[in-house]
Amino acid sequence: MVNKNDDIKLTITGYTSEGGGVGKYDGQAIFVENTALGDEILCHIIKAKKNYAIGKIAKILKPSDSRVEPECLAFKSCGGCSFAHISYEEELRLKEQKVEDAFLHIGGLSPEFEEIIPSPSVKRYRNKAQYPVKRDNGILNIGFYAKKSHRVIDGGDCLLQPEDFTQITEIIRAYINKNNVTVYNETIGKGLIRHVYLRKAFATGEIMVCIVINGSSLPYSDALIESLKAVHGFKTLVINKNRNNTNVVLGDESDAIYGDGYITDVLCNIKVKISPLSFYQVNHDGAQLLYGKAMEYASLTGKEDILDLYCGTGTIGLSMAHKVKSLVGVEIIPQAIEDAKENAKINNITNATFICNDATPAAQELQAQGIKPQVVILDPPRKGCSEEVLNTVATISPQRIVYVSCDPATLARDAKRLQALGYNTEKVTPVDMFPRTAHVETVALFQQLSLPDGK
Ligand code: SAH
Repeated sequence: MVNKNDDIKLTITGYTSEGGGVGKYDGQAIFVENTALGDEILCHIIKAKKNYAIGKIAKILKPSDSRVEPECLAFKSCGGCSFAHISYEEELRLKEQKVEDAFLHIGGLSPEFEEIIPSPSVKRYRNKAQYPVKRDNGILNIGFYAKKSHRVIDGGDCLLQPEDFTQITEIIRAYINKNNVTVYNETIGKGLIRHVYLRKAFATGEIMVCIVINGSSLPYSDALIESLKAVHGFKTLVINKNRNNTNVVLGDESDAIYGDGYITDVLCNIKVKISPLSFYQVNHDGAQLLYGKAMEYASLTGKEDILDLYCGTGTIGLSMAHKVKSLVGVEIIPQAIEDAKENAKINNITNATFICNDATPAAQELQAQGIKPQVVILDPPRKGCSEEVLNTVATISPQRIVYVSCDPATLARDAKRLQALGYNTEKVTPVDMFPRTAHVETVALFQQLSLPDGK
């Protein structure tokens, strides 16, 4: 047993699913952030519990071969990245391990795992940023929350974001300071500017600037628009109103005060209209590889009807529309469904229908109507699919289910449920959409074992 403030010698022998390192001391698990597999460290215990302890690096005695010098100066304090201190190869290896472990330990399954698909870019791959804005002792910070806190670390030039985003935050900083615009103080619920929210369409270069305010209008907005015009690709300025005392970044109401309130990207040859509230994959080049894998698993011949549940702005299904007979997409956010319909239109896709509803009742209604898609695509949020959705999908009885997941744990749970419903996990491919963070995307193919009626 270790005690608080002990200094112990520790070798890191594994990673947690959040990306921290873990080693064993006297049979007890010791968790130490920012360590790498194979590190030998002097570890200072900061918290000691009965079954585990948390430590921090007091000194690295022998660095792991996977260690690299973090390029980002904010790495230790910023809560954004988990892996700036290890090589990208090691990061990919541990992400593969994370997916395999989830299938084995949560799903009780060991399907065929294909090699992880790396992100085409490890730096500056993000097309979206939401920077909290805060004043601390008079200093204006626009950036990221510190680890496990609401303190804002100034973003500086974050290496995951495009350089234009840094240019934009500097323009907004100058605008706030010059015009004495107030910024939000969450303790007292007062002050105007809460978040700077940016999106960039990588294929077209178009940029959306959205400012989230605790109020109804932005003062001196004309001056801000003039300054933003210096940013190459600046297309629209949107004001989003959020007057609630909440951690949720965006409010329901958005007004474009310059441009049309949206930008257009091209993903897998599909034009995609992106508005502030609609979901869009944050790693454009990674998403093309992800959709490519989903397309491969769907094995389309042009004759299939497909159902795309949790379709967002419709992008996965629309990228397959030219290879199917018909496409039905289902999504809960009305704005995203509006965008999906618009996306079908601007791409001259006429075999797609989009339904705005919760996936559970929508699937039940579609089943009651007797639809018979050969392929169902599932791309739920982190919590995975409801049991009812899986039951209904199994009743709809497609030959293949292509499941895109951003959480290996809920994917593995759902794989186990699908197995019980007659769907075998055929193949699994992790795709790294989020380099330097602990998140990993996965595509899994489920194949129907035999039709329930014995056909
Ligand atoms: N397939 C899309 C979006 C995936 S993200 C893409 O690749 O871009 C998951 C989507 O599920 C989000 O758009 C979210 O709004 C939607 N969603 C969340 N809960 C839902 C539910 N219960 N029913 C239907 N859609 C839901």
